[in-house]
Amino acid sequence: MSFPFYYTAAEIGSYRSPVTIFTATGKKRPADMKIKMLRLFEDCIDMSEPESDGWTIIADLVSAFNLEDVPQISNSITWFLRTLKPQSMVAFGPKTLWHGLQHAVRAFIDMEQKGMIVRKRLNSIVGDKFPVSYGISIAYWIALVAISKSLMPMLLIAGSMMHVEGYDYDPESQIDPTVLAKQLPYLYEAWGKALTESIETMDEVLNSEFDATLEETGWSDDLLRDFKAKIDTPEKLKSQSQQGCSVCLDDYSLLGHGLVEPRWVTFLECVGSRHKRDCSCQELLDQYKAIGYLQPSSTHVRNNTNDSDSEDEVFHDAESDPTDSKKSNNPDENSWVVDCERLLREVENGKGKRPFQEVTAHLYRCHARVWLGSYQTGEMLCASCFLQGEGYIDKESKEDWDLSSSMPASFVS
Ligand SMILES: [Zn+2]
Ligand SMILES: [Zn+2]
Repeated sequence: MSFPFYYTAAEIGSYRSPVTIFTATGKKRPADMKIKMLRLFEDCIDMSEPESDGWTIIADLVSAFNLEDVPQISNSITWFLRTLKPQSMVAFGPKTLWHGLQHAVRAFIDMEQKGMIVRKRLNSIVGDKFPVSYGISIAYWIALVAISKSLMPMLLIAGSMMHVEGYDYDPESQIDPTVLAKQLPYLYEAWGKALTESIETMDEVLNSEFDATLEETGWSDDLLRDFKAKIDTPEKLKSQSQQGCSVCLDDYSLLGHGLVEPRWVTFLECVGSRHKRDCSCQELLDQYKAIGYLQPSSTHVRNNTNDSDSEDEVFHDAESDPTDSKKSNNPDENSWVVDCERLLREVENGKGKRPFQEVTAHLYRCHARVWLGSYQTGEMLCASCFLQGEGYIDKESKEDWDLSSSMPASFVS
């Protein structure tokens, strides 16, 4: 159904009141006018097809969500998500999944930036100002963890049902349109409910995920206080440590967690799914050998000193291993697959839980196993630099962002 009068869906979604059209760039826009206008057309907003007007409105509301003059809890996209009536006709396509993910990640980041929920906790633990760049980065990581608990799994289910390339599904199976038509409204309803509830209880959600992360990382109050004391000394501030962020150079060696190597996640995911066609793992394998991932290193040996079972089997040198079947003059097509599995075992063994890596891998799956940024092999990133690389954090505040500009091919329906 199209809109009555002369407004198009896009005009309603991106509606700007006449008052704000003339305000300086960066000024917030009134949300109440937009909501009033949406309410007028509430009964005729059509979301029954992936290309219906309702989705255009959602995309526009999402792309301008942080330009409104109210908190997330009362902005127009949150209002819109709350208004869906049960049993509404809802059908969407892969593009909607992308918009949903973008909105969730940006909404959580925005709320943490404004409320500083995690950063206040860190400050209170150390009894002073927790080192700012680390505090911001840890807060973003916790925001990602919160999204990965209920929202990301819903996207993975929807993407799998729709056979979105890059998601897990049985390629032999066919999409059953009847099942899909029945399930999609439930998924959308569950998504709207989970997202709006998270936004309404963001303090509680982030505090609870922060507590869980403290437990997973083993970060005691003493460790965090000790970290602050040491990192505040000038010589430790920007270290060339192996556990430093490749972009901002923040040193995570004392924390032991908080960095991710996006290329390694790509490798892990591809090995885990037994390699997609034309994958880059062979090339990655050579690069990992070149940068010494298969060499014994003092850091790795130290990490494994308490793990007597794995001590003998890890970190042998693949290049000099006489059983290594991947030689340049013997291109056995399966040998590199075996090497990939061995490399994975050797690097991951004894490292225990890696909660930040795990949550970025979850995001990677939701991106249809694509990174939006480009990363070098061995490049380690803190959460701030990682989210900047993926385009979720802008260096400068922008006007409405274009949701399609970074959309991976899998979501273009
Ligand atoms: Zn960084
Ligand atoms: Zn592969």
